[in-house]
Amino acid sequence: MTPKPTAGTESLKQITHLAAALKAPRITEAAARLADHARDTGWTHEDYLAAVLEREVAARGASGARLRIRAAGFGAVKTLDDFDFDHQPAARTPIQALASGAYLAEHRNVVLLGPPGTGKTHLATALGVAAARQGHRVLFATATDWVTRLTDAHDRGRLATELTRLRRYGLIIIDEVGYLPFAQDAANLFFQLVSSRYEHASLILTSNLPFSSWAGVFGDQIVAAAMIDRIVHHADVIALKGASYRLRDRGVDTLPSIKAEQESLN
Ligand code: ADP
Ligand code: MG
Repeated sequence: MTPKPTAGTESLKQITHLAAALKAPRITEAAARLADHARDTGWTHEDYLAAVLEREVAARGASGARLRIRAAGFGAVKTLDDFDFDHQPAARTPIQALASGAYLAEHRNVVLLGPPGTGKTHLATALGVAAARQGHRVLFATATDWVTRLTDAHDRGRLATELTRLRRYGLIIIDEVGYLPFAQDAANLFFQLVSSRYEHASLILTSNLPFSSWAGVFGDQIVAAAMIDRIVHHADVIALKGASYRLRDRGVDTLPSIKAEQESLN
């Protein structure tokens, strides 16, 4: 069946040209696709224009989100839909509340604590992906990578500039606090990152250690206490529990060394 020429053919050609000039090529496709439907269902001119523009805006939003997700530096992109809350039932309500992103507007933080394999990185990433989809700029890195980045900036005399630049990101994720202890200089840089975001922009931190063990990570009771104070002053702290998801079907409940750690967390 050959498509019958319609009265709008010339107009559609012109729309193609104009949409290209506007760098909005999706308008061409939406205008053509929606025209017959609009005629058949008796849309007003305004309804039709709104529907066409909405397609362009939605597509731009989606490609913006894709770019922000790519720029965030997630190890692997994970979403809340991929997360099995039956394995972590106590986290369901608090995480779903966070998914709306209201905490970002309030510059609140999120701390995910729990033994290895309980989904801390997955949930931090998924909240980051949700934030990117909501239009926020996001950066993800491990605590060790953050320290390397800040040390580089410090050595180039650009620490203050870097901290200011980072404030433009609505969300910074610091994964794996506590996997490696920090040297004194590194702990101080980390403290500056936390301070510079305090009440200005959100942080998500994950750690396999309870707060009571953070002094060991930062090498200093006072630095750790001051840092924890700023982090948790406006924060949701979510404790993940139980056996490693990685080991769930392996016939091992959890690794013995982790069991001891987990018992100290619970
Ligand atoms: P952690 O950071 O706490 O060590 P991860 O988030 O890296 O754990 O989880 C380990 C692996 O198991 C990842 O591939 C993650 O996607 C998966 N995983 C963990 N918990 C769940 C869950 N409840 N539902 C689905 N996948 C999960
Ligand atoms: Mg992890």
